[in-house]
Amino acid sequence: MEIQKCLECQEPFKGRIDKKFCSDYCRNSFNNKVNKESKNMIRNVNYRLRRNYKTLCELNKTGKTKVTRVKLISSNFDFNVFTSIYKTKAGKTYFYVYDQGYLELENDYYLLVKNE
Ligand SMILES: [Zn+2]
Repeated sequence: MEIQKCLECQEPFKGRIDKKFCSDYCRNSFNNKVNKESKNMIRNVNYRLRRNYKTLCELNKTGKTKVTRVKLISSNFDFNVFTSIYKTKAGKTYFYVYDQGYLELENDYYLLVKNE
């Protein structure tokens, strides 16, 4: 038996060296908090993906459009979230948000494409 500090309530308790919590109650409330944080993180990324998707749909009504970076940013576009990446043999990288893709062109322009 060793004296440990509970990860949840910070109180010392006696137990095996691999025990992290003083009680089931503390173990449960600690794990619930961790689950809640990851749920919030997922919800937040989903929200940003949905907003990006909406922006691409609105800007790319024809299925193939050129837009400026400023235009994307002013629609709160977030370049950090996407669902997949497609690299062409020519070395170009398309980023996709579901079926809406974008490719960085020269001079701060982007080509928007929609997958059929
Ligand atoms: Zn505790």
